[in-house]
Amino acid sequence: MRDLLATRARASPGDAALVDDASGREWTYAALDAAVDRTAGRLAALGVTRGDHVGVLMETRPAFVRLVFAVQRLGATLVPLNARLSPSELETQRERADLVLLVCEDDTASDARAASGPVPVAAVDDPDAPDIRALDECVPDTVAPAEWGLEDTLALLYTSGTTGDPKPVTLTFGNVVAAAGASAFVLGVLPDDRWLCCLSMYHMGGLSIPLRCALYGTTCVLQRGFDAEETARALDEHDCTGVSVVPTMLDRLLRADRTLPDSLRFVLCGGAPTPTDLVAASEDAGVPIHPSYGMTETTSQIATARPAESYANPETVGRPLFGTTVTVVDDAGDPIPAGETGELCVAGPTVTPGYYDAPAANEAAFGPHGLRTGDVGYRDDAGRIYVLNRRSDRIITGGENVDPGRVAEVVRSHPGVRDVAVVGVDDPEWGERVAALVVPEDRATLERDALEAHWADRLAGFAHPRTVVFVDALPRTASGTVDRAAARERVVAAAD
Ligand code: ATP
Ligand code: MG
Repeated sequence: MRDLLATRARASPGDAALVDDASGREWTYAALDAAVDRTAGRLAALGVTRGDHVGVLMETRPAFVRLVFAVQRLGATLVPLNARLSPSELETQRERADLVLLVCEDDTASDARAASGPVPVAAVDDPDAPDIRALDECVPDTVAPAEWGLEDTLALLYTSGTTGDPKPVTLTFGNVVAAAGASAFVLGVLPDDRWLCCLSMYHMGGLSIPLRCALYGTTCVLQRGFDAEETARALDEHDCTGVSVVPTMLDRLLRADRTLPDSLRFVLCGGAPTPTDLVAASEDAGVPIHPSYGMTETTSQIATARPAESYANPETVGRPLFGTTVTVVDDAGDPIPAGETGELCVAGPTVTPGYYDAPAANEAAFGPHGLRTGDVGYRDDAGRIYVLNRRSDRIITGGENVDPGRVAEVVRSHPGVRDVAVVGVDDPEWGERVAALVVPEDRATLERDALEAHWADRLAGFAHPRTVVFVDALPRTASGTVDRAAARERVVAAAD
């Protein structure tokens, strides 16, 4: 098998492949394929060969897309690194992934050099580094395209690090093809679609867009980063039919001055729970929301709800994607019936063969029902999935199980609360007690008594937050998810 882009360029060379919002530049599949040949030639000249691990430290931009396919053309493995990590975190990730080369851009060059150790750094568009500058200027036709098998490793992608250090996930060519095929059944993406990528490509949600576009023959519209007004403009200006977002982005888009264009056919919304009022606001605004549940280890979506299904039932993430099996298990690992809450396990062709070079982690992560997601939820009689929280977030106080997501939803529904994180902290009497870090709309006016009155008849007594700490902002990981360990530390520090 040839790589995805070469196959697509042969099938529909004249179709629009890539549009860059920042520069206005556009590439057909043939033009992108030729640019990728040059980049691949340059990488080969830098010594990259089949099976090598090539790091990329960049924000979302055309050069990143070129690298995705150029690394593939050589039969090498792409290792996107999170451009928001500190140099020491990057260094750890670089070492763990056995990189042979790290490619960066101007904005990330100093971090890349600080983290690179013995690994050479190549920069795109860096005038101070003439030897490595010309990724785009190599003689074409010097590269013999690699043959791919479904089992070959296409990328190592780090998880977000919400529950610990980010883990490098092996994603095969087969994983990517299966994920694209499965999501086509719910999104129905076609060559005429125009899919905006404003997410970081060092996470699955962003990286999967150019990969899937090449498979579908769809146009990928790139935006360097998300900004509600700018993203709403780009959606309109480029007649986008699809976009992938996390829930906070969709919330901001719905509050933006510009209305979203009628051209929008699918809004894939995942990575974190979609609040039910966001589903309601989407319905009111006529936005075709597809709430989705997924993870790096499953090459993106596990389940996706269609808009009508979501409007009618805003709590579900829909049914598992084609080929994916979700089994809910109890603490002993045994399957439990519909309606009962337990850990979600996932099996199917989109599931990673494992974390890279981590036998102990793989031993713990895989069981008879596939990958243990670490997420807690249930399915209903119709097979729809509901995700409640992470196993590690579960709070057990005085023997009672508390769902921190449910408590957070109630606290957040108070009009004086902008944001909240609910965590369990050690308690000598109850084992754990419920604590809330609250970001008020206005610190001067929000009183703890008002919050207590608000949750008094909405939550069972044992679920009432015993400790409330007001903060200006929630601690977050480099990926933007709430850093729950840091949240716990804030609560403990405030109590001292
Ligand atoms: P780490 O595995 O390093 O702790 P992470 O799990 O945050 O980090 P990702 O793979 O980026 O890394 O995120 C996947 C997780 O995001 C899921 O396991 C789940 O906990 C959460 N998630 C994704 N979509 C949803 C959703 N729709 N509802 C609830 N949680 C979701
Ligand atoms: Mg995870």
